[in-house]
Amino acid sequence: MKPDFSKSKNGLLPAIIQDATTKTVLMLGYMNESTYTATLETGKVTFFSRSRHTIWVKGEKSGNFLNLVSLTTDCDNDTLLVRVHPEGPVCHTGTDSCWGESNQSDYGFLSELEQSIRNRKAEPRDNSYISQLYSKGINKIAQKVGEEAVEMVIEAKDSDADLFLNESADLLFHYLILLQAKGFQLQDVVEILKKRNTKL
Ligand code: AMP
Ligand code: ZN
Ligand code: ZN
Ligand code: ZN
Repeated sequence: MKPDFSKSKNGLLPAIIQDATTKTVLMLGYMNESTYTATLETGKVTFFSRSRHTIWVKGEKSGNFLNLVSLTTDCDNDTLLVRVHPEGPVCHTGTDSCWGESNQSDYGFLSELEQSIRNRKAEPRDNSYISQLYSKGINKIAQKVGEEAVEMVIEAKDSDADLFLNESADLLFHYLILLQAKGFQLQDVVEILKKRNTKL
């Protein structure tokens, strides 16, 4: 549905900016009819700046443009939801979102586990298994992933579900450790899978 710009006195409607991939809410801006049209025509999110009273292509100075993915209106056509792929941090303070949130996918418990692994790597603890692995270096960690993979393959041939699932957990755990050792995270791998599988 087309937004109804007459619903506000000054012709400006609030536009909620959301990352199309992670669903993080990034910022709030305002659009009038002409900046709404410009957004659709250029594919770059364009606001009307209430403080400067000008058309504002978000990213025009910083280079952090918001590339349009979709633009929809709410139930009564007076608020816009703009899904985007941001080219960089959205807030002028340098944070990903205007509420200081980082713009990363939430893989639930796996994200928490990843965070713990990152912490143990950054601040090693004496009796931490993860810290010990990191102190042994990347080759040792990669070798460990290989061992766990072989163990899982062996259990896959058996009918003991418990053993198979436990070796699967070992593999996933050490895989996350290896990703971090290489300076990557689950999201980097998921992005590649998404690009490959556009027709799911
Ligand atoms: P930009 O559109 O990113 O080139 O930024 C141009 C100017 O707009 C900045 O210098 C800020 O004053 C302002 N600005 C940019 N991003 C935001 C934002 N997320 N919220 C409020 N003001 C912003
Ligand atoms: Zn509404
Ligand atoms: Zn901001
Ligand atoms: Zn194992």
